[in-house]
Amino acid sequence: MGKIIIEYLEGKKIYACKRCNVHLSNQDYLTSKQFTGKSGTAFLFEKGVNYQTGKPEEKMLRTGLHTTQEIKCIKCSNYLGWKYLHAYEQSEKYKEGKIILETLFLTKIKWY
Ligand SMILES: [Zn+2]
Repeated sequence: MGKIIIEYLEGKKIYACKRCNVHLSNQDYLTSKQFTGKSGTAFLFEKGVNYQTGKPEEKMLRTGLHTTQEIKCIKCSNYLGWKYLHAYEQSEKYKEGKIILETLFLTKIKWY
């Protein structure tokens, strides 16, 4: 393994890894709160930082077949959610390239 380079997000309202506080995304990138992960509520973000992805998998979700990659924290390797690489249904195409972070594994930083 090489050196881990951590990115820091500017501004307020940052979502971070609950275990190690590394920045993951922020409210500006939040697309939807209406998602469900393995642990319960999950949020869809336009993009994020400081995560590593697993190998692509075909997954049958409630909304149809998708190609996804599991997302883990780059620093502590905690499971966080998944990334949508490809959606087969036209109505789900907007999710491509976006990431799901499960709220159970998130903490909020600078929400004042
Ligand atoms: Zn972490």
